[in-house]
Amino acid sequence: MDIVKGNMGWIEVIVGPMFSGKSEELIRRLRRAEYGKQRVQIFKPVIDQRYAKSGIVSHSGLEIPSELIGAGSEILERVAARTEVVGIDEAQFLGEGIVDACSRLAELGKRVIVAGLDTDFMGRPFEPMPRLLAVSEEITKLLAICMRCGNPAVHTQRLVASEELIVVGATGMYEARCRRCFEPQLAHQKIEEENKQATAPNLLRARAGSS
Ligand SMILES: [Zn+2]
Repeated sequence: MDIVKGNMGWIEVIVGPMFSGKSEELIRRLRRAEYGKQRVQIFKPVIDQRYAKSGIVSHSGLEIPSELIGAGSEILERVAARTEVVGIDEAQFLGEGIVDACSRLAELGKRVIVAGLDTDFMGRPFEPMPRLLAVSEEITKLLAICMRCGNPAVHTQRLVASEELIVVGATGMYEARCRRCFEPQLAHQKIEEENKQATAPNLLRARAGSS
């Protein structure tokens, strides 16, 4: 960030696919603020309870204490007046309210650092992150490494049979994939495979009965 004069706040957004190190980058910035004796508050959605009840935990095991919230708008009620830096992880799960909340905090003079997925398992823009990018002062787009071929990866590949927008999981359920290796229809294909397998025993039984 360039020199900021007076009591002005701003919004920094960290986006990228899973396994790109977004949480690590968020934690690094928040730790640095804490070393600088700045008052920090950290929030994350209640939906992301993998590994820990509270505390942002990245895949590499870095942890920093955080408060759990259900929606983005709750942040405004929970941020203390003297807080200088607000960190938010997994913002894609916090709904449209997060955009106004972040803007309001920045207007109040706070530095807001937000991390989240910018695209979903189909490769589509993951609201509200695109709107957050539009109103932010600074954007960091991180890439992962494609787990198929080793090229830079922008996509989060879902490996399990579900077409729900939100399926929280980690290693084994998702992979980072590059543009070339990304298979947006894979989740749908897995559902069809499962359906076929479910009906296969019935067919066998029907055949056995007819002979
Ligand atoms: Zn690849």
